[in-house]
Amino acid sequence: MHLGPGHISLEEIVENHTTTYSKVFNGQGTAHFIWDGTYLYIQKSSANHKIQRQTYSMQKNRNLLKFMSICTTDGYTIAIIGPYPGDCMHNDANLTKDILDIEEELLELLKSDPKILIKFCLDRGFRDVKELLEYLKIEYDMPAFKPKGVKQLTTEQGNESRLTTKERGAVERYHGSFKKIWPFFQDTIDFSFIPIVGPCLRIVTAVLNAYRRPPVEYSAQEEQEALSMLAKCEETVNKLAEKVFCDKSKFGPKNRKNWSAMEDVPLDDGFPALDLMDIRKLTCGPYQIQKAKDYCREHLDANGDFHFQVCTIEAGLLRCQIQSRHKNSEKYKVAVQYNDNAVVDYCCSCTAGLRKVGCCSHVTAVVWYLGYARHNPKELESLKPKGLTKRIDKCLRVIKKQ
Ligand SMILES: [Zn+2]
Repeated sequence: MHLGPGHISLEEIVENHTTTYSKVFNGQGTAHFIWDGTYLYIQKSSANHKIQRQTYSMQKNRNLLKFMSICTTDGYTIAIIGPYPGDCMHNDANLTKDILDIEEELLELLKSDPKILIKFCLDRGFRDVKELLEYLKIEYDMPAFKPKGVKQLTTEQGNESRLTTKERGAVERYHGSFKKIWPFFQDTIDFSFIPIVGPCLRIVTAVLNAYRRPPVEYSAQEEQEALSMLAKCEETVNKLAEKVFCDKSKFGPKNRKNWSAMEDVPLDDGFPALDLMDIRKLTCGPYQIQKAKDYCREHLDANGDFHFQVCTIEAGLLRCQIQSRHKNSEKYKVAVQYNDNAVVDYCCSCTAGLRKVGCCSHVTAVVWYLGYARHNPKELESLKPKGLTKRIDKCLRVIKKQ
């Protein structure tokens, strides 16, 4: 009654379950289906070799079951299909092929109103299903791929990808909410529960659909932000990156004298004081702001100083390096251009660092610290290691680099 492709019409999806972002990005009259695979950990089976092999994920090094979620852009769940075994054969693309082959009720829903355009919103894991979607004449959005040997997406690719990830946030929130509300799905599930885990998940999802407001709701701010994101998509060149990354005559490694190192930053250095709304306009979402604090915490030295360099030949330009959270060997170069009132341009050497639609987390960390945190003693205090983190830092015997 509250779940499954048969319980909802395309018209209802368009009218009641399409966010302002989706309407602005894709126009009115499009029914969006966000697909995403999720998994639940299960106990390993030493007695049943076949099930052990089928459910073992080489990627996670654990036994798990997979499900495919199909949501609308406001986080309302149309279907949760599974369980599938967790091995590598059951990846997102193969699950999608199977579903589009046998889920008749879903196919009927997709074909039910020719006036409504169907669009799938996918992530990169679905790349092997592109051909099938094109054959079925189903439109789709998917973040761009970085070709082999290329370090960054172009500004245009980064912009387009950001619009897709913005919409996909809804399905990630759905996955987060059922695991948070029912810790049973978060924990390692007992082997004996495998036959009923699918029905349990569907009951829980139907309850969420029926009694909880969809996690993404309309706000006037959304419309403004969506229009601003669409307008920024028109910017297909990151001019600051062209200047600081490509103009070797002024900003290359031989011109270190054009930069002056700063540590203890005076508040009157010209970098504008910002509030969180100003920063949100730069990021186009909350995720990068949440991550900013973690990047800053690692970037501060033992005295709590934030290291960066100010350009000596051009006013209102600074740069610094931010440590990747995934790889020890990777540091991203961040540059920010500013005036007394606002941040006017930014770039980063990370994969998505050239995009203009919402800056990456590394740029956000620099802007958040210089524009917001250092004007707010509470935020500065929160960056200092304390409690368990401090004790762990002290007890770890880290070997210094030779
Ligand atoms: Zn970055």
